[in-house]
Amino acid sequence: MSQQANPTVRTRIAPSPTGFLHLGTARTALYSWAYARHHGGQFVLRIEDTDVARSTQDSVDQIMAAMHWLGLEYDEGPIYQMQRLDRYHAVVEQLITEGKAYRCYCTPEQLETMKAAQDARGEKRRYDGTWRPEAGKQLPTVPVDVPPVVRFKNPIDGDVTWDDVVKGPITINNREIDDLIILRPDGVPTYNFAVVVDDYDMKITHVFRGDEHINNTPWQINIFKALNAPLPAFGHLPIILGDDGLKLSKRRGAVSVTAYEENGYLPEAMLNYLSRLGWSHGDDELFSREQLVSWFDGSHLSKSPAQWDPAKLDWVNSQYIKQIDEARLAALVAEQLAKRGIAADVEQLQPMCALFKDRCATTVALADWLAMYFVPVTPSAEDLATHVSEAIKPALAQLAERFATIEWNKASIQAAIKEVIGAQGLKMPQLAIPVRVLVCGRAQTPSVDAMLELFDKEKVIERLRAV
Ligand code: GLU
Repeated sequence: MSQQANPTVRTRIAPSPTGFLHLGTARTALYSWAYARHHGGQFVLRIEDTDVARSTQDSVDQIMAAMHWLGLEYDEGPIYQMQRLDRYHAVVEQLITEGKAYRCYCTPEQLETMKAAQDARGEKRRYDGTWRPEAGKQLPTVPVDVPPVVRFKNPIDGDVTWDDVVKGPITINNREIDDLIILRPDGVPTYNFAVVVDDYDMKITHVFRGDEHINNTPWQINIFKALNAPLPAFGHLPIILGDDGLKLSKRRGAVSVTAYEENGYLPEAMLNYLSRLGWSHGDDELFSREQLVSWFDGSHLSKSPAQWDPAKLDWVNSQYIKQIDEARLAALVAEQLAKRGIAADVEQLQPMCALFKDRCATTVALADWLAMYFVPVTPSAEDLATHVSEAIKPALAQLAERFATIEWNKASIQAAIKEVIGAQGLKMPQLAIPVRVLVCGRAQTPSVDAMLELFDKEKVIERLRAV
């Protein structure tokens, strides 16, 4: 489908600021952003900070920085739920007045007893309706010392049905769900309530989120209906599995967007890779942000979990590393080197990046290579023993001598090497490999003349003479 203008489309990402931007949340943000951009609509950032004990501004900052890095710019926000308490309280009062919510004075102990009794009877745990008002029902006497919660009076009969953008039609019977707490005694709303008031107030038309929220959606739909609010479309995205087939988790590798930035991935590669985790456009694997936006119409979203594939991410990243502007690549590698205390000049780095980029999946891998141009190398004892024999030392000494006299460019370097090979009766690798080991600290590199040319001549001579 081609890009369609529908400026009424409004999507949001609603992270809880209790840590970094998780890859799963980043993918949800990406789909929400792309869907809004596809339609020429709006994308909103809402901070769901009602878990006061765990929410931090530092986490908000990290989440916003990671979104900015990925280029997921929002049109509105950040909107903080904790700054909207008055609004939630007003809606709660309205629902109570309309008989759609009620105060419940059950103590935690009473609720525990209720649960234990249900467990003993083998029943599903649910609120038993003690304080639920019904026509003709006598409610208990309000205790003076129990701060109440407010519960939503969920319909008892009938089904809740929605046509999920990802999963297709879903139906849940109201008997499956109980009267959910919408306001805690401390005046803070619960997720399922605040999310609805916000999605309503913010005129959200399409809610994309992880499928761990499917069970929350019937409650939310019932609250939307109680508010006479239009229902958004819901799309529940399957989880992302790790490459071991288990839930992607911190224990098994990096799960924060920021870690990938630090580990040398490019934002456009991350965006490209993340977008394919649960969505496809034919066989396309590499595409631009603009193509993604023009294609992302909410179709071709996968119902089954996607699997994180580090090798594929590396492949995608390496494709972008090859393509991007070389000055930008050099600047990114300079940042990586700076983290290691190496101050490298970006202009000087540029031809080095050009020579090595085909063999590197990340800017960290490039920095691993290019550090040898700036700081001393330590060849391994094994490489020295294998490649730098006593027999080759005279040839190395002769090469160092020749190098001292030549103008430092690829052609003269190559000529000097050939001369020494001829004089000593050697084959190219017999000299080139020891040169690599001594100068670069490793036995395999790109073509030796091109690689040496980018060194300071004196440094090469010094390293050749070190044995
Ligand atoms: N704060 C919720 C989360 O991070 C948002 C869920 C939603 O998008 O409704 O999972």
